[in-house]
Amino acid sequence: MSLRPSFIPVFASEEGGELGNNSMLIGGSTMYLSPDEAWPTCETCSEPLVPLVQMNVSSEGTPDAFRALIPSVAPAGSSLATMVQLFVCRDHDCYEEATMDMDARSWNVRLATVPLVPPPSNAPRLLEARMEIENGEGFLPAQLVEIWTAGKEETWHWERMMGDASDEFYALHEPEEGMKLLGHSVRGKYNYAQGERELIQLGDRDCWQENEALGIMGLDGNIWIDQGVDPEVLTLGMSVTY
Ligand SMILES: [Zn+2]
Repeated sequence: MSLRPSFIPVFASEEGGELGNNSMLIGGSTMYLSPDEAWPTCETCSEPLVPLVQMNVSSEGTPDAFRALIPSVAPAGSSLATMVQLFVCRDHDCYEEATMDMDARSWNVRLATVPLVPPPSNAPRLLEARMEIENGEGFLPAQLVEIWTAGKEETWHWERMMGDASDEFYALHEPEEGMKLLGHSVRGKYNYAQGERELIQLGDRDCWQENEALGIMGLDGNIWIDQGVDPEVLTLGMSVTY
């Protein structure tokens, strides 16, 4: 039975839209891009994507167990940071279409080493997209995860298991819902996943009702970021029970 450690977020008390030394930035309108990189757009509707999760793997607030899975991480304290980034379209229609067709790209999930200082917010190539996001429907105010605390050692969710765990074992190791690192994802009856292992579970809409983060994505099920056989390749996993 494969047990994996999991980690639970500790949110920073400070407000602000930039990562700094924190481990993760959720929402906001700051996007960490390579110099001269254009603001990413939705391949379905061409609207600017919204930054949903930007995880600073280089940060000392990120658990070692997580960092160990990522190839060539820029060291903490340098001007570059290695990040897991998920940008999504705000249009619900784009997203629901995407679950029917995994080749549709209404989101962008990637591993990138980028400057830890974001491009100036008044850079003409970025200003328009930022304004559109900040003033648009469903804007998600920035939230920072400072560090992560150890959660359970998790086993597979019962939807994936062949029923060979005792009740006592499962009660101890059942995967947690909501935002977490590693562990095993909570699965529904139907799964859309191509990866080898879960890196970050975002949770489902219910976990985020307060700020409607995943409402942006317009999906009912659990969502997570998977890592492929090639550790550089990240994909989005989704699971729904209709
Ligand atoms: Zn779109």
